[in-house]
Amino acid sequence: MNEVFDIAVIGSGPAGLTAAIYTTRGSAKTILFAGESWGGQLMLTTLVENYPGFPDGIQGPDLMANMRKQTENVGAKIVNEKVTSVDFSSKPFTINNSYKAKVVIIATGAETVWLGVPGEQKLIGRGVSSCAPCDAPFFKNKKVAVVGGGDSAMEEALVLEKVASEVTILCRKDVFRASKIMQEKVLKNPKIKVMFNTEIKEMVGDQKLEKLILNNGELVVDGVFVAIGHSPSSNIFQGKIELDEKGFIKMFEKDGYHTLTSVEGVFVAGDVHDYHYKQAITAAGLGCMAALDALKYLG
Ligand code: NDP
Repeated sequence: MNEVFDIAVIGSGPAGLTAAIYTTRGSAKTILFAGESWGGQLMLTTLVENYPGFPDGIQGPDLMANMRKQTENVGAKIVNEKVTSVDFSSKPFTINNSYKAKVVIIATGAETVWLGVPGEQKLIGRGVSSCAPCDAPFFKNKKVAVVGGGDSAMEEALVLEKVASEVTILCRKDVFRASKIMQEKVLKNPKIKVMFNTEIKEMVGDQKLEKLILNNGELVVDGVFVAIGHSPSSNIFQGKIELDEKGFIKMFEKDGYHTLTSVEGVFVAGDVHDYHYKQAITAAGLGCMAALDALKYLG
């Protein structure tokens, strides 16, 4: 294939699609690799009430279908191909041994790490969640549990205690891994209880979560928030650009660019970089930033 694209976007979640909308409207010939199962994490959610512009909320898959349609309507080329190889060693860059692009925006996202216990997958969206800022309002005056001992678990618990009647953190060790300051906030909060040395063995419920079977008993809750980490989709970039110790792509600020990776001409957006905010709107925002950086770089 001899065609050289101005910009290749890898990933079709909010970050990638937003990036492609901006680059295409910025007159850059853009190709977006959507992957075999496109759309990212929002394809697995139900009602999204925190994405601005939808006063009554919108189903996650509908939001993504709208974003994809908008990306197609502005003229970006979308291919349903999974990217399995990249060559950033010479320019133009090469993707899947055949596609050429002057600039690449990586927006491959991340996946929630789930516990893998019986009942969990079946009950996602029916009491089992991985995002307190998204789902806390569904648990007003209800009992919930949070699994994990890192900063994410502390943060989820602190979001939930504002609406839930009771929050119990289940930590598999006898210590938290979270930073001291976050631990202190949690431990001094009267609404948050902690059970150390506690693991979930099973999540029980038919239409919705009813209780958790633990290694040391049972816990009746309406919701459980799994906060044991996120896994970035960055395997194909290993050895090609700088990743942090957990595999998230490092972002650099240089020469007025804010979304650079360690390779000049390769930019990054969304959850494959951002392990902190992890929201659709922040991913879309980063997609916009990467697109503007990429257009400036091309110019
Ligand atoms: P972490 O890797 O820091 O913590 C994961 C936690 O989940 C650990 O307590 C771990 O237990 C536990 N865990 C892992 N696997 C299992 C399992 N199978 N069953 C039960 N428990 C399990 O991940 P986070 O998502 O909390 O944080 C990721 C990064 O983001 C960190 O660097 C963190 O500091 C940062 N962050 C910062 C925030 C802030 O500053 N406000 C907010 C959120 C995240 P164990 O300790 O036993 O391994």
